[in-house]
Amino acid sequence: MPALRVLDLLPPPMHNVEVEVLEGLAQVDIREYEDETSLRDLASDVDALLVWYSIPVTKSVIDRMERCKVIVDAGVGYDNIDLESAGRRGIYACNVPDYCVDEVADHTLGLMLALLRKIPAMDSSVRSGNWDFRAAIPIASLRGKVLGVVGLGRIGSAMTLRCLPLGMKVRVYDPYIPPGKEKSFGAEAVSWDRILAESDVLTLHVPLTEETRHMLGLEEFRKMKDTAVVINTSRGEVIDKETMVEALEKGMIGGAACDVLEGEPPAGGEFNTEDPLLQLDNFIVTPHMAFFSFESGMALRRMAAEEIARVLKGEEPRAPVNLEYMDG
Ligand code: NAD
Repeated sequence: MPALRVLDLLPPPMHNVEVEVLEGLAQVDIREYEDETSLRDLASDVDALLVWYSIPVTKSVIDRMERCKVIVDAGVGYDNIDLESAGRRGIYACNVPDYCVDEVADHTLGLMLALLRKIPAMDSSVRSGNWDFRAAIPIASLRGKVLGVVGLGRIGSAMTLRCLPLGMKVRVYDPYIPPGKEKSFGAEAVSWDRILAESDVLTLHVPLTEETRHMLGLEEFRKMKDTAVVINTSRGEVIDKETMVEALEKGMIGGAACDVLEGEPPAGGEFNTEDPLLQLDNFIVTPHMAFFSFESGMALRRMAAEEIARVLKGEEPRAPVNLEYMDG
């Protein structure tokens, strides 16, 4: 029976789901991630590797794999896996693309409403003894405002569907969708410059790639309305964090709400409440939690284990992300 090591930060009593799905196929071994060296040492004798929390699976780890058939990232973003190295060695890299679409879209909507309706700021204001709605001035209506959706994939589409009933007008920037997909949502596809210039709310739903890293920086913030707000539940590195601080401090944009940050937690490494972002009133943050609910957590664990089971049984994986490197 092949051995499977599941690298997981969940405590051992919670590994029943994986054991149940892989019964008769693999022995489940749960380890906490320490560092690249210890992962490299484990890699040589695993038949499958399941990683959580964007643990990096680098070329040097993959080069040590002698029997591994599949690496599954228990999540949507898979920028932590060296896809090419895995593919060249005939190892499938897979993600679980669809376990939390509703949760992330709900969270994105929640961040947008919290920021625009100034809910966290007003909650603090009341708690400090100020029962006065005028503390929220200026505040604008959402109806008729322009929502700019960057990346009309699963989550961008789900966010669009949530915002249409609010009376928002939707513009889309996504060069990779089939022509006309945006029309199914009554939206308009526009150029990068137009979405920056016209959006009242710019919401980011792209994967982290060479093209999208620092897609929003000083030059882009300068092109936006000074009242516009940015919502990011995709990947922190899509926004150049230092320039976002400057844009917020200098009023180039009206505000930002992020579930993800470059170098999470805010200052990188240790959590630092002195981080300049956390001093700003026009910024709100949540700790990379948009994916999470009880239901999505259970679905993720089951779907990730099922992907491994398929490959160990000799079937095709459901969601491979490195096929382009596997041919030839
Ligand atoms: P998806 O693959 O369904 O959609 C991504 C869309 O981005 C696609 O339509 C693609 O064409 C588009 N795109 C790619 N490159 C682009 C570019 N340069 N410019 C504009 N559009 C581009 O992915 P999804 O399921 O909608 O997820 C989006 C991202 O959300 C994920 O990649 C992941 O990083 C992030 N995510 C975050 C959380 C969280 O907890 N915060 C949870 C799940 C996913």
